[in-house]
Amino acid sequence: MPQTSTTETAGEGKLGRFFDDASAILGEANISRDHQSGALKGPHGQYSYGDPYSPTEDHQPSGAVRPSSVKEVQNVVRLANKHRVALWTISRGKNLGYGGSAPVVKGTVVLDLQRMNKVVEINEEYGYAIVEPGVSFFDLYEEIQQLGLNLWPSVPAIGWGSVLGNTLDRGFGYTPNGEHSQFQCGMEVVLPNGELLRTGSGAMEDNKTFPLYKGGFGPSVDGLFYQSNLGIVTKLGIHITPAPQAYATIEIDVPREEDLVPLVGTLSDLMRRSIILNSPSIANIFRIALTSNLPEVQANLAKYMRPGSCVPYVVLEEIRVQNEWGFWRAYFSLYGSVELLPALLKTTQRAFNTIAGVQIRWKEHRGVEGQYIRASEIGQEEIPHNGIPTLAPLGIVNTRVSEDGGAHTCFSPILPPSGRELYEWYLGAKQRTLEAKFDFFADFHVFPRYIIGIELMIYKLPEEKAAMDLYEELLQDAARQGYMGYRIHVKFMDKVSGKLNFNQSALPRFLATLKNALDPNGIVSPGKSGIWSSSSSSKTSKEGIYAIKYY
Ligand code: ADP
Repeated sequence: MPQTSTTETAGEGKLGRFFDDASAILGEANISRDHQSGALKGPHGQYSYGDPYSPTEDHQPSGAVRPSSVKEVQNVVRLANKHRVALWTISRGKNLGYGGSAPVVKGTVVLDLQRMNKVVEINEEYGYAIVEPGVSFFDLYEEIQQLGLNLWPSVPAIGWGSVLGNTLDRGFGYTPNGEHSQFQCGMEVVLPNGELLRTGSGAMEDNKTFPLYKGGFGPSVDGLFYQSNLGIVTKLGIHITPAPQAYATIEIDVPREEDLVPLVGTLSDLMRRSIILNSPSIANIFRIALTSNLPEVQANLAKYMRPGSCVPYVVLEEIRVQNEWGFWRAYFSLYGSVELLPALLKTTQRAFNTIAGVQIRWKEHRGVEGQYIRASEIGQEEIPHNGIPTLAPLGIVNTRVSEDGGAHTCFSPILPPSGRELYEWYLGAKQRTLEAKFDFFADFHVFPRYIIGIELMIYKLPEEKAAMDLYEELLQDAARQGYMGYRIHVKFMDKVSGKLNFNQSALPRFLATLKNALDPNGIVSPGKSGIWSSSSSSKTSKEGIYAIKYY
């Protein structure tokens, strides 16, 4: 049976009774009986829940509850079970480009953890923090500044999301500890029946290594709560990069489109050898031009960047040649001691000088022996390699010309790191994108053993259908080539889980077994990552054999 009805309103039936009971626990100010208010301020200045980048109601929640403590989360979960009302967990709801705070199932109530915003602990000596869900990257950074600690916490491109939610959705940032899911250590989780669990060393009361040693005793279960609906994470330990003594930011331009191959191959090789420690990002000529802040370049792009049109590559090539830019630009930094930095720079230059026409620029902070650099001495960076949070890239979504609201989504396949596979995938994806009359904005991220090839699509709200059609084509193309996204828009979760077909979908079947055991009433984030409990419905989705939907 459906647990939430798309027609039921908050005043009626079980939903109304759920909100009445939730109000008695949390106070009326901390529940929203519709989707229109109560969320943190969004990219269009709105306070509504849902996907700010979708004009449709397909994934509109029916309201929200905002507990302020673990006890309240447990009580809300018990109420949800009692009334058979489904909850969609968010920490700050800034999952922009992948659905924002929108649930998979229309009518789900958002469980918004923004009020649980304590930094529980920061340890400078060992380099870690323990945070609650509502702690943003700005909050953590500011707390570290106030305490004057020698730590550079990682931050993604936009700093208003939560450390915990970003980590659980496998987001990443730009310092050497930027691969957040790899540097998470210790979790506290409210299970769908309301019980409280700690993972790893935290399984032992008062264990001294909860945020230090992830393994614990026996099987590791942290991974079960990533991109998941098997629990609600209420605390998370995260390791933080110590402030370096010496630091340099690097930009590398290469002139030809096909230079992507040696650029990526060299970057990932230097990462495997621990010369480069943070994840380099790579921009294409369209993005270099768009973010250049040169008025004449902006005016040139604006002639083409409008619904139903995209910038021709002859124009981009003219801009590129006039400004002496590369077709591709890689951004990364080097971190080390005073003695180490000159050697790292020399090694890096030698490696990239093998590419004809390469330009290597760097800004050095040589540092002083025995002292650590404060990120604030360096100041805000275009890409936050020093961990200073920013909201600056938000403006990019409004660069397509028209009165309508700006939006973006990301298609983000994971590929091997030689550069060859990325280039092959990129040529096909670029072709698809131009045929659909959108611009290809590259935000590729290099890791030692894989690439996250983010294609950021900028669109206007009335173009949502065309953008989503393109998204689906890209998804199907990538799957045919043997790739899947690292993070998926709520609209496509069943589609991707339907591709997990090894041994008759053994993994989706395993996850469905866990879901049924842990959440028999299907109250936590139904449909997240294509995972459904059998109680959710009687009807099987077309995409995944074990993905079961509400009807
Ligand atoms: P952010 O806080 O970075 O803005 P969200 O709150 O939108 O990100 O969370 C992103 C995704 O991560 C959510 O859609 C949800 O699937 C998952 N998530 C967020 N917070 C939690 C949590 N406390 N427990 C379990 N999953 C969570």
